[in-house]
Amino acid sequence: MLVGTYCYLPEAMPSPVGHALAGLAVGLVATGRPGPDGPTVARLEARGALDRLARDPMRRRAAAFAMLGALPDVDLIVDMHSTYTHSIGAVAIVLAASWLILQPRRAGSSTPIRRPGNLRVVRRPRRLACAAALAYASHILLDWLGHDPTLPIGVTALWPFSTAYYDSGLHLFMPISRRYWLDTFWSHNLVAVARELLLLVPCAVLAWWWATRRDEVSGARGQEGSG
Ligand SMILES: [Zn+2]
Repeated sequence: MLVGTYCYLPEAMPSPVGHALAGLAVGLVATGRPGPDGPTVARLEARGALDRLARDPMRRRAAAFAMLGALPDVDLIVDMHSTYTHSIGAVAIVLAASWLILQPRRAGSSTPIRRPGNLRVVRRPRRLACAAALAYASHILLDWLGHDPTLPIGVTALWPFSTAYYDSGLHLFMPISRRYWLDTFWSHNLVAVARELLLLVPCAVLAWWWATRRDEVSGARGQEGSG
């Protein structure tokens, strides 16, 4: 139902594609330099995108950041968009969960341990957990920068400390309409997604280039040092 220029039907802003690109970019940059023996982009035989993704740590990491960037919009399913999942409280939960998941574990066990031995070790778990939380937080930033025509306008960014809704008013991103019965549904959404891609694809490409280039540089240094 329309009220003036506003609508009571929830709209996402930006699209999952835009959020995924931002999450990937923020996560890769926040991960930073992996060190001489850190993961690099593997040169894998082309067996399909999913196979390359499953076998390459850098691609797995980038995919996880992209998913975290889009994750807060799960609240659209229960018609509670821009509330609890769009807050620093949710970011803190993602940080704690990521840190727990990335702790060293004995192979085949779900219990984190600190003793050396038969471990599945993730390098720099604290840094990676922070990067995961920042990739998730990028969603809140983009929604705050976007144009939200759904009442109440904005995101409850400071929950649980405040339930106030915050909106930058900058309208950097357009809302993605879910009102498929309107004539303008496709044209509006195509323009909105094109604008997101224009702003966010360069960020994601630059972040990927930076992360992989740093890997190669530090890897080359490590080989020189050990040679
Ligand atoms: Zn959102």
